[in-house]
Amino acid sequence: MLGLMQDWPLLVSKVLDHAATYHGDQEIVSRTTEGPVERCTYKELHSRARRVAKRLEAQGIKKGDVVATMAWNNARHMEAWYGIMGMGAVCHTLNPRLFPEQLVYIMNHAEDQLLFVETTFVPLIEAVADKLQTVKGVVIMTDAAHMPDTKIENAICYEDWLAEADDDYTWPQFDENTAAGLCYTSGTTGNPKGVLYSHKSNVIHGMLANAADTLGLTSGEVILPVVPMFHANAWAIAFAAPMAGAKLVMPGPKMDGESIYELLDGEKVTATAAVPTVWLMLLGFLEENNLELPHLNQVVIGGSACPPSMIETFEKKYGVEVFHAWGMTEMSPIGTLGRLKGKHAGIPWDEKLSLKAKQGRPPFTVEVKITDDEGNELPRDGKAFGHLLVRGPAISKSYMKGEGGEILDDDGWFDTGDVATLDPDGYMQITDRAKDVIKSGGEWISSIDLENLAVGHPDVAEAAVIGIEHPKWDERPLLIIVRKEGTEVSKEDILSFMDGKIAKWWMPDDVAFVKEIPHNATGKILKTALRETFKDYVLPTA
Ligand code: ADP
Repeated sequence: MLGLMQDWPLLVSKVLDHAATYHGDQEIVSRTTEGPVERCTYKELHSRARRVAKRLEAQGIKKGDVVATMAWNNARHMEAWYGIMGMGAVCHTLNPRLFPEQLVYIMNHAEDQLLFVETTFVPLIEAVADKLQTVKGVVIMTDAAHMPDTKIENAICYEDWLAEADDDYTWPQFDENTAAGLCYTSGTTGNPKGVLYSHKSNVIHGMLANAADTLGLTSGEVILPVVPMFHANAWAIAFAAPMAGAKLVMPGPKMDGESIYELLDGEKVTATAAVPTVWLMLLGFLEENNLELPHLNQVVIGGSACPPSMIETFEKKYGVEVFHAWGMTEMSPIGTLGRLKGKHAGIPWDEKLSLKAKQGRPPFTVEVKITDDEGNELPRDGKAFGHLLVRGPAISKSYMKGEGGEILDDDGWFDTGDVATLDPDGYMQITDRAKDVIKSGGEWISSIDLENLAVGHPDVAEAAVIGIEHPKWDERPLLIIVRKEGTEVSKEDILSFMDGKIAKWWMPDDVAFVKEIPHNATGKILKTALRETFKDYVLPTA
């Protein structure tokens, strides 16, 4: 017997309808690419998104066509994205930090028909334009006054283009399983792979993000997603904020400490989210200028492991609660978030910190388990670590055009490529990426644990650990350090700081100092590049 409830397809356009109808006067504040901070409301955004949809149809864009955006977090990007998805096309968010060859590859692979691009990235597109096989038009996201001189053929100014359509437009209704968004994984090895979100997965994931134990957004919240919309849907915030009617503060092109502080303070931001590198810049700026964060209540940190020292600084020095989160592009991207449970109220700070340093527990609709190499499930005892597998309605079942073949096992589990522990309360802790763990004498050493510990040293700006070949142990850890400006911390200082805080055999065999550690397009340490740089390195212990 079937249930007798309405068919109400979970379409992304309904999210914006809801925001416009019930939170029409709520603000979206954007630092524009042109410079000034501008304001609009959900009602206005709704109107402009429908104009985008109508204009796209006039352009000949059809349901299922892929339309790309290369843009910062701002209202224009939001309206383009809702307009594209709302009319049934697929919004392909491009990461401008990708190498040009990768960009060309993914744009051709996705068969992008039209491209919306910020003025910032016009030179990037000019350089590859003749290699783009399917792009028929380029819309430059600015007004006539700021339209750059460009070699791109048929480049159109966004505001002129949009002026040709009014908002007398009704969103089409279609199957909720229709593709809505496309985002390629950074592809540190091999070609990037396309993750194709559906309307349904985006809506479900937005609701999961808004659950009280996840981001828990409300209409009273002022949220600043520093994490870009091209980085896995700004971690769901571009859907979750309009669903909740939260005020959105969009940082545009400026993510340095001073610019972020200016928005946090000026707009009285209560919640924010970004990768650890962004927070390093903000914390540095606060310290240098003796500033406080009186309005901010919560900061979500993910994308790479958040060092406990960062959690401690936010919570103890600035009174801001930190939620460590983990996820991946294939998971829309939220997989876990580290909110404590009721029973943890009143536990001593040290215990709290170790719990908060874990990546958190899964919200409803995300299933996780860990297995050994043979696929046997391992105990959830907080000690055993193994391959982390996930399942859920907002998790990929295959990549764009079947790239990479079958990605689920017989029971529908997706192997994340991460190695983790799970404790009896559901808290997951990433030990490492399976390919980054250091295999020493048949045992595993977590590069993340060593990095977290090393950055706790007051003179260390950033740390990375890679395995270096060793004649006796197969691999031993090399610690690579960027010193804080003006400091002269030595190998001995760092090693004695770490000594006693980890097992003896986990201690790095050597410390190398570098000016800079390379990062990939989503801000993660590029271990492949470090391995290349240090491929002939001989450890003093070898
Ligand atoms: P995203 O684009 O959301 O960063 P990617 O797909 O590029 O996702 O990368 C996902 C990977 O990033 C995860 O599989 C994991 O290795 C790493 N990662 C994400 N968050 C964390 C975290 N909090 N701690 C450690 N590693 C993390």
